[in-house]
Amino acid sequence: MKDQNCIFCKIANGDIPSATLYEDDDFRVILDLGPAAKGHALILPKEHFADLYELPDEIAAKALVLAKKIASKLTEILKCDGFNVVQNNGVCAGQTVFHFHIHLIPRYENDHVGLGWTPGKLTEEDKAEILVGFSE
Ligand code: 5GP
Ligand code: ZN
Repeated sequence: MKDQNCIFCKIANGDIPSATLYEDDDFRVILDLGPAAKGHALILPKEHFADLYELPDEIAAKALVLAKKIASKLTEILKCDGFNVVQNNGVCAGQTVFHFHIHLIPRYENDHVGLGWTPGKLTEEDKAEILVGFSE
């Protein structure tokens, strides 16, 4: 299904032009217009799924295989030193376009890409709550 108001539906299905690196029946891979680093690409499914929670298993599985393929090719072309695979879900997690996508971000020694967090501490309370949740 497509969403008439979704910009990534339009891009993924070719209704809006994009710098396309790869396309198949399920996905289009494009260069991000606001790259975190040179070669920042986005994997877009052609069908509209708002986020990871909505993604069918079959598309989820194919997406990671595709991420590996495109990251490998970009690494070969750009000679980058590393790679981040990022996928945001929800406003608080930084999602701004509500059509599932995977960020492929090449990393270079001494680049200024601002990904990361300050490590906290796993408390006994949090651990117990989460483990109980998984055992139910
Ligand atoms: P999010 O914050 O939702 O995880 O990521 C959205 C990404 O889409 C951002 O990195 C932003 O630069 C990119 N983006 C937003 N609109 C467009 C567009 O029209 N074309 C392309 N190529 N990238 C876009
Ligand atoms: Zn969409």
